[in-house]
Amino acid sequence: MNQVFLEYFRCPDSFANFALAGDEFNGELPGYFTFGSGLTCYGRSVLPRCETPTGDLPDAAAHVRIEGDTCVLPFDPTEVATNLRCELYTSATRPPSWKRLTRKIYYALRPLLPTYLRCHLQRASLKGWDQKPFPQWPVDRSVDRMFDELMVLALKAAPDQRIPFIWFWPEDHSSCAIMTHDVETSDGLAFTPQLMAINASFGIPASFQLIPAARYTVTPETLSAIKAEGFEVNVHDLKHDGRLFEDHANFQQAAQRINDFAVGFGAQGFRSAILYRNQAWFKDLRVSYDMSVPNVAHLDPQAGGCCTVMPYFIGKILELPVTATQDYSLFHILQNYSQDLWLQQIALVLQQHGLLNFIVHPDYLNTPRARTCYTTLLAELTRLRAESGLWIALPRDVNTWWRQRNAMTLIPRGQGWKIEGEGSERARIAYATLRNDELTYVFA
Ligand SMILES: [Zn+2]
Repeated sequence: MNQVFLEYFRCPDSFANFALAGDEFNGELPGYFTFGSGLTCYGRSVLPRCETPTGDLPDAAAHVRIEGDTCVLPFDPTEVATNLRCELYTSATRPPSWKRLTRKIYYALRPLLPTYLRCHLQRASLKGWDQKPFPQWPVDRSVDRMFDELMVLALKAAPDQRIPFIWFWPEDHSSCAIMTHDVETSDGLAFTPQLMAINASFGIPASFQLIPAARYTVTPETLSAIKAEGFEVNVHDLKHDGRLFEDHANFQQAAQRINDFAVGFGAQGFRSAILYRNQAWFKDLRVSYDMSVPNVAHLDPQAGGCCTVMPYFIGKILELPVTATQDYSLFHILQNYSQDLWLQQIALVLQQHGLLNFIVHPDYLNTPRARTCYTTLLAELTRLRAESGLWIALPRDVNTWWRQRNAMTLIPRGQGWKIEGEGSERARIAYATLRNDELTYVFA
């Protein structure tokens, strides 16, 4: 049960001493509870079980004991992190079959519908989204905040209240951002050179997700034109018909084709259409990383969200969660062209030293006000890069870094610590400490 904590912080094993309060809940079903103020968890625990994340939830923090150097917890953090990251909490609230059928009919008719009608129907189907208590809007950091709370407990149990760990990002970077462009139509593909020029003018790297088997033809010239400018190419779904995750056997066949296209594209990453997903099936994809899981999915057709702003592993695949609202939802569902929502999300992710992952479609930058909104975002990101140490990188570079960090170890050296492993020359040692009972990080 210490493993997820160690993977998250990459601190030496000796600092993670968590134990379960007996095995009282082994036969119990998972439920919602809080772990301190405003932090919702889902899993088995010794607490009274709540089936919905509403109302007064029992607080696990009141049941934590520190015995010597061990923190005794009333729940298993590995189980809670998995339930949230892999969206297992949603299986308790799967949409009824009539809703799933309506969705199928909608996606069959979607190509025939004019945009205004599509937006109208989507807004109607999302009614009440802003009343949902969980995951938390506009960014859910439950997994990250659970690890913060566990770090506070570990510090209270540690002899000198100082725990070394491998900082989340390379060099002196405080947080990370990736810009990703899903190309939906041939119009979007035609706008790609202009979009690359806009990004280049701000020095912003980006990845382009291309649909391999429908809507437009991806030629070798298209691939090399994108790569020649220093941008990255990934696979976007297979046919972009909203049906990829409908049936497991069909998905396995589609996955083989996606894997072949990934080789042909020279792509390391994947994103599904419309952020449809079933994380349990990802093991059939032979890509290095995925970007199909939203942090909080209130404005997406498939509900849920992974409740973290940090990368995490789904088997061998690294997930880079989508942590900002998509341009489509902002412009066409919320009908908003201001920066307010993106700025709120940026602030929340940066506070957590997390990953900002934006999806902006070349297809929806077809009006001057949409383009202005996008370039204002780029200006803000470049400001944060200059002033706050934000690392703006290609998704594949973030994937490489996170895998290297995951394989590094901290070993004692003299009075301090040393990082060993490939890429360790870019890694930094940070110390977690408590200042007035608040978790604080300082660099070595
Ligand atoms: Zn798409």
